[in-house]
Amino acid sequence: MSINPNSHNVKSIFSRKERGFVHLVGAGPGDPDLLTIRAFQIIKNATVIVYDNLVSREILQLVPNEVQLIKVGKKYNCVSTSQCEINELLVTLANQGHIVCRLKGGDPFIFGRGSEEALVLERQGISYDVVPGITAAIGCGAYSGIPLTHRGISRGVTMITAHGGDDSYQIEWDALTHLDHTLIFYMGLHKVEWITQCLINHGMDFNTPIAIVSQGTTNQHHHIIATLKTISEKLYQVSIKSPSIIIVGEVVNLAELINWYGIKKENNIHYEGVM
Ligand code: SAH
Repeated sequence: MSINPNSHNVKSIFSRKERGFVHLVGAGPGDPDLLTIRAFQIIKNATVIVYDNLVSREILQLVPNEVQLIKVGKKYNCVSTSQCEINELLVTLANQGHIVCRLKGGDPFIFGRGSEEALVLERQGISYDVVPGITAAIGCGAYSGIPLTHRGISRGVTMITAHGGDDSYQIEWDALTHLDHTLIFYMGLHKVEWITQCLINHGMDFNTPIAIVSQGTTNQHHHIIATLKTISEKLYQVSIKSPSIIIVGEVVNLAELINWYGIKKENNIHYEGVM
């Protein structure tokens, strides 16, 4: 049986108290066609949408005019709404009876602090659900023609944040370089030189291919490819914008062969989609 918490008669089944509902929704990496059907439905039915910087303009264009939009920031090195304030906002809106869509870039539970918000809602007895989204690593890999695993080349993927949130955060470089996995660094654009140096210092071949994928899956999708040794220099020559993700491993070499998105863009091909 499928229960829709947005429909009036079943709302009480979900409501532990007579309050609103919070959907913690992953918007995917940017291309609106990568939204799940569930995310699309919630965007259309919410009374208020609380969204991050990472949610693309194209996705925000899908929001009906009557739905209230609240931006809560989150950009590298910029002052934005604190996590505490966001938590309070969600609780307040739900207590006012709103159907809240908490819209996050990628997946809410991958470096998205969605789980922290879920824990607050749990503690406050507010009804909520979680809608997964395509995380940046998956979307950027696919649109750049970089399979994150490939038989005989990479048998595993490790996703790491380059930004730990506090000074005590340390990356286990030795462990990483000996995994033989594709390594994906989130939030690492401003630390490329440091990341590549640490990988080389801990035993990774300096000729290992690396890709930086910028604004992945959006109309501005762009990627550059180099080696651990040459990427920093290449970065000085081109302008790469946030958000960007870093992919390290031999699978990066397949991008040249699996260039479907480059060809689609070059030839201006449009497939049937939401937009
Ligand atoms: N929850 C998100 C990640 C949030 S952390 C997810 O699952 O994707 C923010 C980081 O994600 C950015 O600094 C960047 O490294 C990465 N990112 C998010 N969207 C991206 C995109 N469209 N292209 C490239 N990197 C992206």
